[in-house]
Amino acid sequence: MGRKIAAHYALIEGELRRNIVVEVDDMRQIVSITQTESLDNMAGVEFHPGILIPGMINLHCHLELSYLRGSIAEGSGFAGFARAIGQVRGNFSTEQRIRAASLWDSVMWQEGVEAVLDIANDDLVMGVKEQSQIEYHTLFEAFGLGLTSLESHKKMAQNYNHSTLTPHSTYSLQDSIFREACISNNSTISIHLLESRDEIELYDNRGSLAEWYQRMGWECDFLSYGSPARRVAESVASNRRTVCVHGCMATADDISLLDSHFQGGVTWALCPESNRFISRIKPPVELLRSLGARVGIGTDSLASARSLSMIDNMRQLGDIPLAELLTWATLNGARALGIDDRMGEIAVGKRPGLVIIEGADLSSLRLTEQSCARRLV
Ligand SMILES: [Zn+2]
Repeated sequence: MGRKIAAHYALIEGELRRNIVVEVDDMRQIVSITQTESLDNMAGVEFHPGILIPGMINLHCHLELSYLRGSIAEGSGFAGFARAIGQVRGNFSTEQRIRAASLWDSVMWQEGVEAVLDIANDDLVMGVKEQSQIEYHTLFEAFGLGLTSLESHKKMAQNYNHSTLTPHSTYSLQDSIFREACISNNSTISIHLLESRDEIELYDNRGSLAEWYQRMGWECDFLSYGSPARRVAESVASNRRTVCVHGCMATADDISLLDSHFQGGVTWALCPESNRFISRIKPPVELLRSLGARVGIGTDSLASARSLSMIDNMRQLGDIPLAELLTWATLNGARALGIDDRMGEIAVGKRPGLVIIEGADLSSLRLTEQSCARRLV
């Protein structure tokens, strides 16, 4: 049996519209969208107070780090966070890690996440993801200045559906292995980019990353690119679908450079909760909007977030028109993953999932502290 669902507003074609009835069949496919005069006395229609949206796309997550929730102090800064994660990582059993991933996977599903671009360093929680109702796209991450081979990454990627390789960042990999990780990717590339000032200063041989590398005796063979954004533009083929994660320090020049390099543009995956947690900084939302950049939303991991709530991250992005903000969390993520032919918007023939946002201010169309998302379909 199919269902007919209505709410105060529904996100349709990028707009918040009233008096919409969405009909979905028992395979979760949308079979009709109708606009009526009024929703009063419509027999057989479920009415949910709030805003009806398609299932959300979490464009940046590390589900495998869910066990680290509450283990790392807030505000420790970029280098401090990296050190702290190394210190606490060994304190947990395999079972604890799997249990945490399983728990947070089901929380994300209930809160309306339909697909995740998920970063992985090993395959410990791949079983959780394979059994999940969420569609995970896993990127096995190449990481480490001493890394010289991607054989183990390639083997892991071969073993699982929707999985491939990606480079971690422009500061953690030498030149040739960074390029090889991009070439080996057969889906969406995701790069942690311009999260902190230290990443930029490294290219001038200063700042905390440069000092740390010097202390450890590690050399970088990629500093001649001059900047993180230039390294990406000169190392990644222009026809690749690419997600840049964080972008807190991105300038107008960086954003324009990457947009003009990539034929289909780039998507900036903003994770404001993680930025607040680690460094008390904010992504440059207004700059990205003013340049017409494409934005998606991620939660990052529970090592640097209180929750994996997409709504919490949206709320922290500030006063963005709600229809636009919701499009970032849905269709833009689906486009970045190349799955917008079946997910990311409420449209006939698609199977996006249906989610109700409750507790929003419906007169000003803003998210409030009470707003939350709940899966209907
Ligand atoms: Zn990350």
